[in-house]
Amino acid sequence: MRPVLFYSDDYEADIGPHIFPMRKYRLVKEQLLEMGVATPEDIAEPDAATVEDALLVHTQMYVAKLLNGTLSPLEEATLELPYSKELVEKSFLGAGGTVAAVRSSFERGVGVNIAGGLHHAFPDHGEGFCVLNDVAMGVARALEDGLAARVATVDCDVHQGNGTAAIFAHDERVFTFSIHQEHNYPMAKPSSTLDIGLPDGAGGPLYLSNLESALDTIFSEFSPEMVLYVAGADPYEHDLLGGLTLTKQDLADRDEAIMSACASRGVPFVVTLAGGYAERTSDTAEIHAAAIARAITTGESL
Ligand SMILES: [Zn+2]
Repeated sequence: MRPVLFYSDDYEADIGPHIFPMRKYRLVKEQLLEMGVATPEDIAEPDAATVEDALLVHTQMYVAKLLNGTLSPLEEATLELPYSKELVEKSFLGAGGTVAAVRSSFERGVGVNIAGGLHHAFPDHGEGFCVLNDVAMGVARALEDGLAARVATVDCDVHQGNGTAAIFAHDERVFTFSIHQEHNYPMAKPSSTLDIGLPDGAGGPLYLSNLESALDTIFSEFSPEMVLYVAGADPYEHDLLGGLTLTKQDLADRDEAIMSACASRGVPFVVTLAGGYAERTSDTAEIHAAAIARAITTGESL
């Protein structure tokens, strides 16, 4: 079945001049339509995540600070985004897209949010452009609603998935996997269930061989009933915040490895975008759109 692509023009918050290209959400959607791989009928606007969804993984105090606008200057600096009520509303909407994609994946085999993957948010604070950890919220929602008993996160953003690792550190129902550049943000890397920290400059062959063996481990030792894929575009060779050297083809091979590993085992999967800071934002959008195009064809083949 064709996956629903969750997206809203309201995903884009005004954060002023910033390295995070908020407009990429719209660019990815437009590219999918231009490529002819998606039609407007494939796209659905999600409901915003609820406070209850957020409280599955965030503390009451942090959520209250977000809603009341009472983050301290230090907390706002750690977030690395300018706080606004609008930013919080849009973060709830973007996280709602991931929650909706998770639910949809159990009906259609594949779920897609044209946003999300904000893996640096911790239970009690936001960090590294991530207000709410939609990855963790989607996983927690699947567990809470009894859709799955075991969920794996496959985090391929170039930066380690510190927030997700911390949130599920003591939860046996979740296998957190992160493959990233070791010498890069975040400085402190709480242990995921499995971390692969690659050396500076690592390219496609090293990346893909490590990924393949990790996927074997995840499926043989954990048997997840859903996989949440954090499909960061920032391992790309021309990324400004990444120091790996994957080509667009390597990134497409990465997407294929993960999606076919899930599809061949009948395991539903969800795609979220995460980071991407290529010199040309059009490259970031192209990498994300290619991943979603692959998700659509994988869903259709099921
Ligand atoms: Zn990143």
